[in-house]
Amino acid sequence: MNMKIRTKPRPLKKLDAAIPRLSPQFPQLSKMKEDAAIQQKGFTGELKVDYYLDYLASDCTILQDVYLRVNGKNVQIDSLVLSQRAIYIVDSKNYNDTITFDTTLKQMTRSDGKVEAGFEYPITQVQNQQFHLQNWLSQNNLTNIPIYYFVAISEPSTIIKVNGDAEALGRVVAHAARIPSMIMEKEQQLAEQSVNKIQDRKTGKIILNACNVFDMDIIKQFSIKKLDLLPGVICPECGLLGMERVYGGWKCRKCKCKSHDAHLKTLADYFLLIKPYITNKECMRFLGLKSRSVATRIMRKSGLIYQKEHKRWIPRR
Ligand SMILES: [Zn+2]
Repeated sequence: MNMKIRTKPRPLKKLDAAIPRLSPQFPQLSKMKEDAAIQQKGFTGELKVDYYLDYLASDCTILQDVYLRVNGKNVQIDSLVLSQRAIYIVDSKNYNDTITFDTTLKQMTRSDGKVEAGFEYPITQVQNQQFHLQNWLSQNNLTNIPIYYFVAISEPSTIIKVNGDAEALGRVVAHAARIPSMIMEKEQQLAEQSVNKIQDRKTGKIILNACNVFDMDIIKQFSIKKLDLLPGVICPECGLLGMERVYGGWKCRKCKCKSHDAHLKTLADYFLLIKPYITNKECMRFLGLKSRSVATRIMRKSGLIYQKEHKRWIPRR
């Protein structure tokens, strides 16, 4: 079963919410767009790997996007597959063109035929994850659980080359489509060696309960001031900022489209970027409303909860 499902990472959600609300002159805008594109590429790659790992869902417990705190440090693992005999870490890597692993120097380079770039060695990264997970498990009295790891290359078109021990590398690095059968093969070996069975569901639940949400303060990171974030309801059709409130909904003055609920996204943007709560005054400003009572009605209809003691509204969890 899939015990924990991947959703769009919060830092990416924040970037996607902030970018359309910044002036084209905002100094960090191009850097933010670049960051969002890199994060989106990683996320898309992870989803591709999830698609293949899903083949194992009937026999194993799968946790996507695991984020644990171990010895004062945060550890992020793309996917954990818990079988009856072991835990498998699967790290997704999304690269175009050709990647070359050097098993002696422990380095990886990517080349598009013209430019070569170096990256952190994926095997070292995933070994670190294994080390931290092992520590976490023993701290939580989950002992004698073997941990194995794989690096899944999410793009089928990526060419993988090896300088050095190709056989050893091929045992842990593969295109995503091959990972499920590699896990099943390892599982078979463990069964033949009569390795003790583990309680995959129970262990999965313990890990799930300890998982945190990965987040980043993009407001601080890109020096965004509150007033840099332009208010207004964004048109779902053409993206224009500042839909007009009309009876029962919103109207775009550019493409003339109408929407009943375009404010839901605007309120979600507010909670994501500005504050985890909103006052009536702020709601009027951010949605571009002239009436207090309309703001109250919209917030109530949007499922927000009124905190009387603070005179503010919070989203329903
Ligand atoms: Zn429009």
